[in-house]
Amino acid sequence: MSDPGEALANAKAAADRIVKAKRLNACLTPPKELRQSLQKQGQAAHPSGVLYGMPVAVKDNICTLEFTTTCGSKILAGYRSPYEATAVAKLKAAGALVAGKTNCDEFGMGSSTEHSAYGRALHPFDKTRVPGGSSGGSAALVAAGAVPAGLGSETGGSVRQPASFCGIVGIKPTYGRVSRYGLVAFGSSLDQIGVFGRSVHDAARVLSVISGRDPRDSTCEARDPLRLPTVPESLQGFVIGIAKEYFPPDLDPAVRRACDRAIRVLKELGAAVREVSLPHTQYAVPTYYIIAPAEASSNLARYDGARYGPRYDGALDLRTLYRTTRGEGFGPEVRRRILVGTYVLSSGYYDAYYRRAQQMRALIAQDFRNVFDRGVDLLFTPTTPTPAFKAGEKLADPVAMYLSDIFVVTANLAGLPAMSLPIGRIKGLPIGGQLIGQAFLEDEMIEAAYALERMVPGAEDA
Ligand code: GLN
Repeated sequence: MSDPGEALANAKAAADRIVKAKRLNACLTPPKELRQSLQKQGQAAHPSGVLYGMPVAVKDNICTLEFTTTCGSKILAGYRSPYEATAVAKLKAAGALVAGKTNCDEFGMGSSTEHSAYGRALHPFDKTRVPGGSSGGSAALVAAGAVPAGLGSETGGSVRQPASFCGIVGIKPTYGRVSRYGLVAFGSSLDQIGVFGRSVHDAARVLSVISGRDPRDSTCEARDPLRLPTVPESLQGFVIGIAKEYFPPDLDPAVRRACDRAIRVLKELGAAVREVSLPHTQYAVPTYYIIAPAEASSNLARYDGARYGPRYDGALDLRTLYRTTRGEGFGPEVRRRILVGTYVLSSGYYDAYYRRAQQMRALIAQDFRNVFDRGVDLLFTPTTPTPAFKAGEKLADPVAMYLSDIFVVTANLAGLPAMSLPIGRIKGLPIGGQLIGQAFLEDEMIEAAYALERMVPGAEDA
């Protein structure tokens, strides 16, 4: 049992730090509302919970009762959900505090938090750069020290990529580990809530709390919550696969150096390191950017001005109502995704694009199974091909933006757990290393991350 006043003190301190970090444009909740809610939550928090008094910032596509849920979109400006996400309810039941809603790319579509209707979020260490995306706001707040942990969501790397850019830990669990109830749908077969922490332990304990069965989400497996492993003395007995497709010749040299150093540490810790191949990796980005928009085009059909979204005036008939609402309410990237998604699903193109992408998805998942079947426990890769890029750099070229997801989308397509942790820096900018695990074996992945975190100089130049 903790000191019952502690949550209130934490709540106030967190509110102060989040407001102080305002220049990052990472938190979408107005300061006054944030302070009031945190104060109330601090008073009401359960002192017996395992996360008692822990402030957790929540991405704005996860439904909360305390604050609006806008998904970074104009179409949901001011929207208050009548219910809260299961992950949020579980956090609160464990005594945690919902520390505001964080900026993100609209509906999670983007890799830089520049596609937010509420302005871009800034990288915490270099304001000319992006914090990554789409969960960039949560990542920036955790990295800036405003909150110890945050929730994000992943459809294709949106937790791991910003974690890597901001120098913190980000975990995407196995598909089905955490309930999606109350997570606004983007690509339902890919979406999972993920967690950010400044340490592996903080991220892992938040994940453990939000994991587990939920009768409200039939894709959430009926399993007990994730059990946290202990910090291992060594990695003796672990076989770590290094897939050559994740180390292309044009990989940023600093990223390569940081990875090489981490691989040396893995060996020193007693792990057996083995070179492996995941031959279909090169098709992951095009596959993802067919399947995710296809599902998005269906999921986003509900924002029509009748059920959700502001009803723009002057609509004389239903078609005009839909057209004006959606034309005014969605930003350019969301419109692009809906167009692409509708195209790849349309009659005559379905077989050429959507069906083939589904077949490729199966091959990508099979690549991983082949490697795991041959005794590999985990894969180690860079999280991103470069450190955080400059704001504006990839805005005019959507394909360049999509390519920054090259090492992260495979785990979403295969449904596997994966995480990013800091493994070094270059000129002050963080570099992330990725571990990809076997389905529902997050505990093994976290165990290896504990060991790596202790031994790799994550804050030192590579
Ligand atoms: N960059 C990916 C996209 O734009 C990531 C999305 C996500 O994981 N939410 O689709």
